[in-house]
Amino acid sequence: MSEIDRMLAANEEWLGEFPGPVPVAPARKVAVVACMDSRMPLFGLLGLAVGDAHVLRNAGGLVTEDTLRSLAVSQHLLGTRSVVLVHHTDCGLNKATEEQFRAAVEEATGVRPPWPAGAFTDLDGDVRESIRRIREAPYLVTEEIRGTVYDVATGRLREVA
Ligand SMILES: [Zn+2]
Repeated sequence: MSEIDRMLAANEEWLGEFPGPVPVAPARKVAVVACMDSRMPLFGLLGLAVGDAHVLRNAGGLVTEDTLRSLAVSQHLLGTRSVVLVHHTDCGLNKATEEQFRAAVEEATGVRPPWPAGAFTDLDGDVRESIRRIREAPYLVTEEIRGTVYDVATGRLREVA
């Protein structure tokens, strides 16, 4: 049985917990931008329920052009107004360099990717940079934006000043 077969079977089990249909617009008018890290169960650690928030995830929780696209849809079509960023300790992008990433891709595929991985050295600085990008995006109507770092060793969320 593959991992995906296990997931499909798990969904059958989960139907017993399915809360039923809820509106498409997030009830708490919040969008979460977070890293894809497998150790961050965002709904649980943020106290979110089904239908409460949009959750945008990518490697590093970076604010890319596609993140801005999703936030614009979230805000203008579905009414969210707050954004919370969730980066974390022990991030894969905090441990690698752009050159290591490009070299690894090239070694495996023969091609160097044209885009950066988003590697960073300063965790809090990376959160602040993400906040700045969202604040400066001219087509967003964000009313509140806050940045956090999740500690994968303790489960605690720390706000970045
Ligand atoms: Zn990460």
